[in-house]
Amino acid sequence: MKFVPEKAPITGETLDSLEARLRESGEPAFRAKQILDWVYKKRAKSWEEMTNLSKELRAWLAATFELMPAALVLNKQSADVTDKLLLELGDRSLIETVIIRVPQEGVGLDHSRKTICISTQVGCAMGCVFCASGLAGLKRDLLAGEIVAQLLQVCHLEDARTPRARDELASFDNIVVMGMGEPLANYDALLRALTIVNADWGLGIGARRITISTSGLAPKILKLAEEPIGFRLALSLHGATDEVREQIMPVNKAFPLAKLLPAVAAFARKHGRMVTLEFILIDGINDSLEQARKLRDIALDLHAHVNLIPYNTVDGLPWKRPSLTRQKVFAEVLQRSRVSVTLRREKGHDIDAACGQLRLKTEIERTSG
Ligand code: SAH
Ligand code: SF4
Repeated sequence: MKFVPEKAPITGETLDSLEARLRESGEPAFRAKQILDWVYKKRAKSWEEMTNLSKELRAWLAATFELMPAALVLNKQSADVTDKLLLELGDRSLIETVIIRVPQEGVGLDHSRKTICISTQVGCAMGCVFCASGLAGLKRDLLAGEIVAQLLQVCHLEDARTPRARDELASFDNIVVMGMGEPLANYDALLRALTIVNADWGLGIGARRITISTSGLAPKILKLAEEPIGFRLALSLHGATDEVREQIMPVNKAFPLAKLLPAVAAFARKHGRMVTLEFILIDGINDSLEQARKLRDIALDLHAHVNLIPYNTVDGLPWKRPSLTRQKVFAEVLQRSRVSVTLRREKGHDIDAACGQLRLKTEIERTSG
């Protein structure tokens, strides 16, 4: 289903598209840069604030565009380092954005490095059996402007907490596209959004600080490799053989490893960057030594970094993480062959921790009350 909002989000406009809209309505094109400066640099919260624009232009903007297409409904700060935002869109759909703070030595949490995890769809159609985001299927794709708005909301929130240096742009360091949804299934909106996020007239975030995570849509990975902007890629592998992967990720039937891995290799060659393989460890499903050895071989072949993530339980699903000993034994198989590997341990670093679950809970509360 495609969502057509009453007013287009201003956060979905590129400099070119906004210039074209202004010209059509008889305004000079240079106003576009001024407007985007108000949105991304000065972070205006209302059109009235944009005082270097005429009253008429401000009225036209207010009638034509939505300044903030994602409203903050809940900010759930955990005791650890994650901060979850529940946002409501124009059609009352709910999405999640997560701020992950990585504490730096000697400075408070406010000055920690921040990674923002953003969503690209409401729900997900991929049907991975372990994932909360896909439990109720796909509701709809996000618009480019709704993807960008998540980051702008984070900036507004962080600005209120810590006054920023005048010309400091974004209030965070990295973006991971690992929230709700399969980003490459909403390819055009994703690319438009990340182009805006990357541009100097937008949020000015370097491509190397943006990681797209995919469940493995091989043709789209090849397409992404051809894009001029070199984003980072993470592949949700979760099974080192077709047999195991197919059990938990239906996408593997359409794109089995023999198709998927060469696409990832082509991406890595093209951009000369290390790809990350994500591997959630699920007790009794994919945590055998045989899987560890197969994963090691794939990682060595692709010269990839491996991120081992102990599974986070999801309400209503039977899966659980293996014991810490079993996790370590699995990791050691990779370490012994000098594969670059991290085993996530601190709870707060589990960025996927409950991604999709906050929305699910709220949806359930809404329908039951
Ligand atoms: N759809 C994309 C990006 C969103 S999911 C993808 O699948 O890559 C982001 C990551 O969280 C994926 O690696 C996904 O497999 C993982 N994930 C989903 N549910 C999880 C859970 N309960 N515990 C740990 N990781 C989970
Ligand atoms: Fe969708 Fe990713 Fe969840 Fe799979 S793991 S259902 S692709 S969000």
